[in-house]
Amino acid sequence: MKCPACGGDCILKPEKVLDELYSMYAPCGSCELDPMYNKSAPFYERLHTDSGRCRKCGKRHLDSVIGNVLTILKDSGLFPDDASLREAGTPLIVFGYQIPYPPRLFRKSLVLIMDSITKETADAVMSGVPEIKAVIKRTGSPSRSIGILDTDSKPHTYELVSGCDMRCDVASSVFGELCIYKNQAKVHIEFNNTKIRKIEGLYINGDLDNAVVVDGLCGPGTLGLLCALGGARKVILNDAWLPAVQNAILNIRANSDLLGVKIEFETDHDKLIGDEPVLLARANGNSEILVYHGDIRELGKAVKDCDLCLIDTFPSVDPADHACLCRDIAKKIVII
Ligand SMILES: [Zn+2]
Ligand SMILES: [Zn+2]
Repeated sequence: MKCPACGGDCILKPEKVLDELYSMYAPCGSCELDPMYNKSAPFYERLHTDSGRCRKCGKRHLDSVIGNVLTILKDSGLFPDDASLREAGTPLIVFGYQIPYPPRLFRKSLVLIMDSITKETADAVMSGVPEIKAVIKRTGSPSRSIGILDTDSKPHTYELVSGCDMRCDVASSVFGELCIYKNQAKVHIEFNNTKIRKIEGLYINGDLDNAVVVDGLCGPGTLGLLCALGGARKVILNDAWLPAVQNAILNIRANSDLLGVKIEFETDHDKLIGDEPVLLARANGNSEILVYHGDIRELGKAVKDCDLCLIDTFPSVDPADHACLCRDIAKKIVII
């Protein structure tokens, strides 16, 4: 599959990702030991493209990669000499899952989110640090979510300064895994596994068996698609934010073998924020999956009589406001 953002090979088959995941970021027998840098202290070492690189497997410890980035940031004059590794930015591994050790990185395996960066310096980082896949500039405070809070608010996105921001998070549950791809500059950064535990709870209770589930604020589709994997008969994904909906459709396509579905219909439009629900894709197979672009407050016009409605709002939004809107759509509302 071609990456819809850059045309490159950013989208791997989930089966391949899952097969390789457990060794992907592990050191080989010849890798250097953890350099044990203090990440909060001034970092005066100068690291270059090959500093700390294993001669056998070619990987490098995360801290060596960040030290290489920091050297370039200091040389550009953007950062002072006494800056620490932690100040360089927020690193996100390209195939995200919880690993119990510091990752050893390979080519284009890290997306870096930074507060102060210029295009020129980002390009210098991309060419001087082969492990970096994309540099994203954070706008606003780190606690502000990317996307739209509701359809009346202005969208908040980060700026993709260099590279391709397509990365994936592995959604791992007791009934299987999915690879959820996302354009990280435009879609909420998710660290919260407790949401997946809630879907597991529904699965264990038998609530997903043959159920019709609406994921009303679906983002890139993580929870709704897990419901399809967990036995739901029909899943309706909806979001008002077009980049999220486009990622959700990409994720149906990327995970089609795991989900046992095929996309039968897909269309696109250029309205960034949805209002009246518009059906943008439908897939069929083990489950039927519909993808709507629209305001959740209007979704009742297209969707009725479902069993469950999942409500997963941004942390700063009161889910109760949405819950009462969904009473007409589904018998049971699940606040995630
Ligand atoms: Zn790409
Ligand atoms: Zn090695």
